[in-house]
Amino acid sequence: MTPFALLTARSLEEASAHLAAHAGAALLAGGTTLLDLMKLGVATPRVVIDISRIGHDGIDRTEDGWRIGALGRNDDVVRHPEIAVRLPLLTQAINLGASGQLRNMATVGGNLLQRTRCPYFRDIHSACNKREPGRGCDALDGANRGCAVLGTSAHCIAAHPGDMAVAVAALGARVRLHGAAGGRTVAFTDFNLEPGGTPDRETCMTPGEVILSLDVPDLPFGRRSTYRKVRDRASYEFALFSCALALDLDEGGTIRDARLALGGVGTKPWRAWEAEAALRGQQANAAAFERAADATLHGAVPRSQNGFKIDLARRVLVQMLAELTEMPA
Ligand code: SF4
Repeated sequence: MTPFALLTARSLEEASAHLAAHAGAALLAGGTTLLDLMKLGVATPRVVIDISRIGHDGIDRTEDGWRIGALGRNDDVVRHPEIAVRLPLLTQAINLGASGQLRNMATVGGNLLQRTRCPYFRDIHSACNKREPGRGCDALDGANRGCAVLGTSAHCIAAHPGDMAVAVAALGARVRLHGAAGGRTVAFTDFNLEPGGTPDRETCMTPGEVILSLDVPDLPFGRRSTYRKVRDRASYEFALFSCALALDLDEGGTIRDARLALGGVGTKPWRAWEAEAALRGQQANAAAFERAADATLHGAVPRSQNGFKIDLARRVLVQMLAELTEMPA
């Protein structure tokens, strides 16, 4: 591991001051991603700032939902009784995201900043534009079975690894940021960036900014929601495909509204806007579900080993829509 200096911040102001004084410093919260990457030599910060004691770790009810502090633990959200009942897709997504030990350590803010599991990104001997801009991408013609089919570019096809992130994309959550220029709030669907020509730039955050909270709206039809994750093994594995889905049905079986986001297939948590539009106002039946799946997957671009994800996503999505339609209100 590259030697580094460890600083401790006891307040947001102190963290900001350290960040301003040390360009390129890394923030340490739960450490479940950063320490891995430092041991691999993928992350080599000269200064690490421990922010685990600066607060911003509670879950507060707001007028329209919940404000979840960035330093709250993933398991705090899972154990929140009201969220579990009103937004089961969020609780399920976090539960399926990692083992209990990891959920107890990992923070909500850190979860939003997870790095890809692309094997070439994590191997410093491979060519990877995300790790080393301009070096190339070994995944394009290599082991790309786990890579994305939506939002890819000629420079990077890495899949976003998140589960909670998929659920909060579907819910229309917002991220509150704090930086030298003050505070700002961004829609979570704008928080992660598609790779384009700069895959090393993964979020809209600017240098020195920190995440304060995730603001999750209390979706009125959130009780009829679910999260499904398809993976190579049943425990502690990243998604080949995942889906967060919520449906608002009237008594006649017409879909008033839908929220849908996909994981494992996109370079960012993939809000399926086209599928939602295709479902809205439709009678809930197999034909409508097929049209919705086609609408969101029509632009998918497979590589040599990951074309199966397109058919997998279509079939799982159609099945989830059928099951959620039948769920009692
Ligand atoms: Fe790196 Fe992205 Fe290519 Fe993977 S897909 S090797 S992360 S540039």
